[in-house]
Amino acid sequence: MSETFTFLKNNINQPIICTDCEKEFIDRQNSKESLQDFLKIDVGLTDFGVQIWCQRHQQNVCHFDFEGIRLKADFRCLKQKKYN
Ligand SMILES: [Zn+2]
Repeated sequence: MSETFTFLKNNINQPIICTDCEKEFIDRQNSKESLQDFLKIDVGLTDFGVQIWCQRHQQNVCHFDFEGIRLKADFRCLKQKKYN
């Protein structure tokens, strides 16, 4: 695959998570699910920028304020070909 599409893959190296969810996840200890599976978040555009919202705790996790600047965004996604 072309290197130009690298940015469409998962490049997250510093996840943004709800601290309350993280505490609850650690307290569960016996859970076989990953923290990613445990988190329930909404991510979306707002009048200011992008907000990450915890569904479980109904609280803000992070709200990026773009300060009126229009940033480039790419909503394309890569689909893996299925070979049968
Ligand atoms: Zn939470």
